[in-house]
Amino acid sequence: MSAHITAAQRPQRRGLSVRSLDWPVVIGITIAHLGCFLAPFYFSWSAFVVAGALVWLTGAIGITLCFHRLLTHRSFKTPKWFEYFLTALGCTACQGGPIQWVGTHRIHHKHSDDPNDPHSPTHGFAWSHVFWCLQKHQGGLPWTAANAARDLCRDPYMRLLNRFYIVPQIVVAVLCYVGGEWAATLGLQTSGLSWLVWGVFVRTVFVYHATWFVNSASHTWGYRNYKTDDCSTNLWWVALLSFGEGWHNNHHGDQRAAAHGRRWFEIDMTYWTIRMLGLVGLARDIVSCKRPADA
Ligand SMILES: [Zn+2]
Ligand SMILES: [Zn+2]
Repeated sequence: MSAHITAAQRPQRRGLSVRSLDWPVVIGITIAHLGCFLAPFYFSWSAFVVAGALVWLTGAIGITLCFHRLLTHRSFKTPKWFEYFLTALGCTACQGGPIQWVGTHRIHHKHSDDPNDPHSPTHGFAWSHVFWCLQKHQGGLPWTAANAARDLCRDPYMRLLNRFYIVPQIVVAVLCYVGGEWAATLGLQTSGLSWLVWGVFVRTVFVYHATWFVNSASHTWGYRNYKTDDCSTNLWWVALLSFGEGWHNNHHGDQRAAAHGRRWFEIDMTYWTIRMLGLVGLARDIVSCKRPADA
């Protein structure tokens, strides 16, 4: 928690307020979780592989590489057409549109574990993990994501995707169903519903919690390489689930650096992907680490 806040400003526990629930979000997240109960009844190996591939595409590439490292922190540059494609991929994770996601995350960095942090465990672990995003105005905070992401607001494509961020997920759902039916005609033991349940519901919920653990667990447990003015930590299992994002104290210590790993064992698969994109000309001006670890 930041040292400059007074006792009166100390974060209070926050709970869900029924009056300010964001109902479309609540219903969407509930349906996604309920859909996972169908998973054992619709298991097939091909659907499992599809779900794994989509976790990579939507979680690692869409959220971690694009929404976080590219759009929020500009840790590298990429051609505009490719940035637009990656942003559509990020939307398939159903974590809100690019302006909402990026703005909220920038505010998290500005107010990390302060009273104005949208998702700090100092307000309660469950709040930081999921409750915060179920509210219309996260605790009545004096900020808007659009203000914090004015650069994206100037781009009509980003504004369009921010409004209709659900559309790419619907396209993926249709493709999953059609793909599963097609695979069944080829003789695979599967179905359209199998690919739909695993490729949309299970995959979306997996990526939800992998992302949410960065906000909750990686501000609660783990070790620190940087003496930052917040509670951020490095946590290996969150790094594994979120393709490198769990080295979160390293990230708070040097926010623009494209690489989040500092020590040899801090594996950061997203950084490897950025380097590979660099090799084929799709990533340039990759921001290197400017601040060495304190400990
Ligand atoms: Zn960040
Ligand atoms: Zn953080």
